[in-house]
Amino acid sequence: MASVGKFMRAIRVSEFGKPEVLKFLTDVPVPTPGEKQVLIRVHACGINPVDTYIRAGVYARKPNLPYTPGSDISGVVEDVGRHVTSFKKGDRVFTTNTITGGYAEFTVASEETVYQLPEKLNFKQGAAISVPYFTAYRALFQKAHGRAGEVVLVHGASGGVGIAACQIARAYGFKVFGTAGSPEGLNLVLKNGAHKAFNHKEKDYIEKIQAAAGGEGVNVILEMLSNVNLSNDLQLLSSGGRVIIIGCRGPIEINPRDTMAKESSIIGVSLFSSTQDDWKEAGAALFGGMESGWLKPLIGPEYSLEKAPQAHEDIMENSGATGKMIFVL
Ligand code: NAP
Repeated sequence: MASVGKFMRAIRVSEFGKPEVLKFLTDVPVPTPGEKQVLIRVHACGINPVDTYIRAGVYARKPNLPYTPGSDISGVVEDVGRHVTSFKKGDRVFTTNTITGGYAEFTVASEETVYQLPEKLNFKQGAAISVPYFTAYRALFQKAHGRAGEVVLVHGASGGVGIAACQIARAYGFKVFGTAGSPEGLNLVLKNGAHKAFNHKEKDYIEKIQAAAGGEGVNVILEMLSNVNLSNDLQLLSSGGRVIIIGCRGPIEINPRDTMAKESSIIGVSLFSSTQDDWKEAGAALFGGMESGWLKPLIGPEYSLEKAPQAHEDIMENSGATGKMIFVL
């Protein structure tokens, strides 16, 4: 590890709270990989809404303090533990999780959470794969058991998970509807795989979706804001339709009767409840998308690590259509 100093720049969180608890330090020790772990020089790190829930201390999983946030990095392998067989120094990689945190110059990740990054994608795109694409894949296939030919509505299609869902659904032969809240968002949704796009800020957009779906209704809804939309979603579903709860920012009242006649399902998804087999399956499918070219992460605002508090403010205010927010190191 001749080129690696002892200390690195990184964000550390010593107490849960507002974005200001994200402290930028320059003297954090560079971590050492264990036997089945990989040390990666981070080039970019994805910023996800879940990072803010964990930082605030309101998420189901709480890390031990102090910690460095960030699961979705891309970069170059710097060193590997002695039982690592799949990677070597110099490999271009991305991760679906890290052990020591991705908002840092170097991170250590367990071998099974590290994936080769094909040459077709740059490091910025590599940092935009994990949470958005693995969540979208899990929702559509592992939870909704979606099948080619079905109509899928991506309710909130202009953001990180939404764009990923549109690209995946289009590649796998679904009829894809997506919603966004601005003209730029609608444009983006159409460019990234949706056959039709609807503005979720328009009063009558639910009727427009209903008309576009025809008498049968929508087979699968991937829902990014269920506390606003779940009741309407139940009206839109086909017989045997499924709503997959991806995003939720509060409670909502629904009438359970709306599920009865059509035998509808409401299914929650939690990416981090994926089994090792689930990760493997999704990784293989998404790798296929990277190689054949339909998986194209869209990069938005870029931040330096020092700006982490601002990035966490912005992601909660974020209107979609701006592309994935990332740190660039
Ligand atoms: P994001 O990039 O901030 O995107 C948010 C999306 O929500 C945008 O497309 C936005 O559209 C849309 N939206 C705003 N108002 C809406 C409305 N009334 N109806 C439908 N959509 C609306 O966030 P993300 O990374 O895609 O994540 C989306 C949600 O999923 C977040 O709440 C996140 O925490 C959650 N999530 C959950 C899991 C899981 O495992 N369950 C995994 C990843 C993410 P406009 O801005 O165009 O209006």
